[in-house]
Amino acid sequence: MDRTQGLSAEEAAARLAREGPNEIRREKGKSLWAILGGQFRGAMTWLLVGACIVSGALGEVVDAIAIGAIIVLNALIGFVQEYRASRAMNALKAMTAPRARVRRGGQLETLAAKDIVVGDLLVLDAGDVVAADALLLEVHALSVDEATLTGESMPVEKDTAPTAEGTPLAERTDQVFMGTSVGNGSALAVVTQTGMKTELGRIASLLAEVKSEPTPLEGRLEQVGRLLLVLCLVIAGIVALLGLLRGHPWLEVLMSSVSLAVAAVPEGLAAIVTVALAIGVQRMAKRNVLVRKLPAVETLGCTTVICTDKTGTLTTGTMSVREVWGPDHDRVLDVAAAASDAELDATGTAGSGDPTEVAILKAALERGIEGGAIEKERARVTVHPFDADRKRMSIRRADHVLYVKGALELMLPLCTTGQEGALEANRELASRGLRVLAVAVGEGEEEQSLELVGLLGLADPPRPEAIEAVRQARAAGIRTIMITGDHPLTALAIAREMGIVLPGEDPKEIVHARATPEDKLRIVRSWKARGEIVAMTGDGVNDAPALREAHIGIAMGVTGTEVSREASSMVLTNDDFASIVAAVREGRGIFDNVRKTLVYLLTGNFGELVLMLGASIVGLPLPHTALQIQWINLVTDGLPALVLVMDPPDQDVLTQPPRKATEPILGASQWQAVIATGLLESSVVLGVFVWALGSHDATGARSLAFSVLVFAEVFRAFSARSTSLVFFETGVFTNVRLLMGIAFTIALQIGLSELTWTRDLFGITSMTHADLLVCGAIGLVPVTLIELFKLARRALRRGEATVVAPPA
Ligand code: ATP
Repeated sequence: MDRTQGLSAEEAAARLAREGPNEIRREKGKSLWAILGGQFRGAMTWLLVGACIVSGALGEVVDAIAIGAIIVLNALIGFVQEYRASRAMNALKAMTAPRARVRRGGQLETLAAKDIVVGDLLVLDAGDVVAADALLLEVHALSVDEATLTGESMPVEKDTAPTAEGTPLAERTDQVFMGTSVGNGSALAVVTQTGMKTELGRIASLLAEVKSEPTPLEGRLEQVGRLLLVLCLVIAGIVALLGLLRGHPWLEVLMSSVSLAVAAVPEGLAAIVTVALAIGVQRMAKRNVLVRKLPAVETLGCTTVICTDKTGTLTTGTMSVREVWGPDHDRVLDVAAAASDAELDATGTAGSGDPTEVAILKAALERGIEGGAIEKERARVTVHPFDADRKRMSIRRADHVLYVKGALELMLPLCTTGQEGALEANRELASRGLRVLAVAVGEGEEEQSLELVGLLGLADPPRPEAIEAVRQARAAGIRTIMITGDHPLTALAIAREMGIVLPGEDPKEIVHARATPEDKLRIVRSWKARGEIVAMTGDGVNDAPALREAHIGIAMGVTGTEVSREASSMVLTNDDFASIVAAVREGRGIFDNVRKTLVYLLTGNFGELVLMLGASIVGLPLPHTALQIQWINLVTDGLPALVLVMDPPDQDVLTQPPRKATEPILGASQWQAVIATGLLESSVVLGVFVWALGSHDATGARSLAFSVLVFAEVFRAFSARSTSLVFFETGVFTNVRLLMGIAFTIALQIGLSELTWTRDLFGITSMTHADLLVCGAIGLVPVTLIELFKLARRALRRGEATVVAPPA
């Protein structure tokens, strides 16, 4: 087989069609029917179904049909929410799916691992996860971590010497297997098995099933839901009992209290989180952040420390040689180019490989030193690749010269000549923020007895958007920690320029220079030990432990290895620091949205409970019929809640300190809001009901109370968007979705009293325009009072602040 060509595109497509995708089938996605079926699973739905059957059996056909319709509508709303959420998550899964590099039709291509077929030529490098079982054709110092397959934690050295048929898996050193990862070296291999036929596929059925567990927040909300269920059932029971004792018709009492129970129980609590997460995750994807582990999104909003790489994340990563130091500048560039692995393209303006080396090759070319010519005239003999621990690399070429480049301090001990003045020059270049590389030559095989030829200073400008992001992070109470392999002076100069270290600040804990991947692990641990919530970026194979250890591991999508992606909870598709801060903003927004939607829903439910209970206790007729309660539940749980949960993050989310990870979603102040607002709303409605009973019959009074409650509920959505900002400060008039949702709900409500059949169905009377206006006006009372309360509280706090402020 031709090792440079690989399969043609047509052949690969044909094989893919024949063999099927290269996937381990472990979990099945939920089908549409399963999602729909899931909507009918809750106890509350069955209570409604019971109510429907009872009314039907008693000849109340209209009621039975109406309740049936409510059940279907409820299920549909739930279905649409869950379907949207699952679609968003599937799209995301596809984006974060593993990738592989293959040679096809003579070209190097990066594909989704599932598209790999038997016969493909896999190109493997350190940090890659092997995408299928394959036979090795070429290896360069290859070692593979096979722990996923064999449990063996030591890396296995591989070569191309054939092993006998039937050799145990762990000893088949001429093959690589799906799911294992390349620790070191590189290789070319031809795929022999894909998908379920691989060794991993064979044992897949033995591996633990991957279940989609509820995230911590979903779990907590399920608990809240269960607690509320009990509370609602008790109150509904009391209402029923009181009604029966007062001699109200038993069917009406039964239906109302069942409805009350069904309406007041917030069945969809966990679903709110799911929807909020799914939408937030979609928004993050637009901002170049792919989420791999959903629970991380919840933690993201609590982040207090972001540990970030410098090169390519804080800086643009597009380097250029600014300074050359040494007696012979041409020789410095020649040696540096000869010690490089990257390649320039035909135009000489761009290239592939390490950006540092591309910059070196470009600078060399400007002086007439061609990388291509070096490869031809002085072919490579051995390559000792760069790694973040050694901070240097060397290439031995056909002219028997060893070309070395790397960090000066780590090379000086190996040099025997040419060192005079180098340390001072290094310091001078580094303190200007330049990345410094020392270049040297040697005669032996080993990196020793070298001659230092000179230094190169490379500029790597900060990303302007990252500077702004660092400022935002600071305002949001989040510390930015820079971790870099560069010289301390280079690091400090860049950190100062970017506002990571401000004048007068001690850089000791903020800037970690000449760091190794092991240092990263230590840094994460030490911040964690202090109770901080740590986000950490990484790209190399050796970064994986630190990425796993951090609360939020963030891999680089452009320069990152597959191993680092697998260890992370998120991937930055543009490697940009600013995206991390954008993601934190979304993370905070998601939590806020869940919280305010919850408070909004619970307030409504609590209000209804109080209203019905209050009326029962004082001996009034029930203010709402069963169907009316269901309707209120449907219109307020439906549109306004959906709109609230999709709200964009508040403008001021990044001016607040981070929330504590242990902070409950419903704390004392949220419960206070639920209770106070619920009481307020129910008193207003009860007041209207009592007043209306003076001049109307029960049906007439109910009609008014019904409209007032619906209006009050939808208007309250305006104020529910923020606990501190008044509705016109939240930019409410720019939130078209909210305005439309509310307008639609109001139109529906007016429609109910306009049509004869809906009037009959809901047991309401027709309303004059004056009636509707009055109901609308009274419906505005609760929201107005809430907004006034916010203003008063703010004024009061400002007053307190002035009193305690120290004299200037
Ligand atoms: P990151 O911030 O992405 O972790 P870094 O800039 O912090 O990257 P390294 O790429 O590990 O760190 O570089 C550390 C030092 O190693 C540099 O200051 C430089 O002296 C040297 N170095 C970097 N790249 C090369 C290379 N390709 N060849 C030789 N030496 C290199």
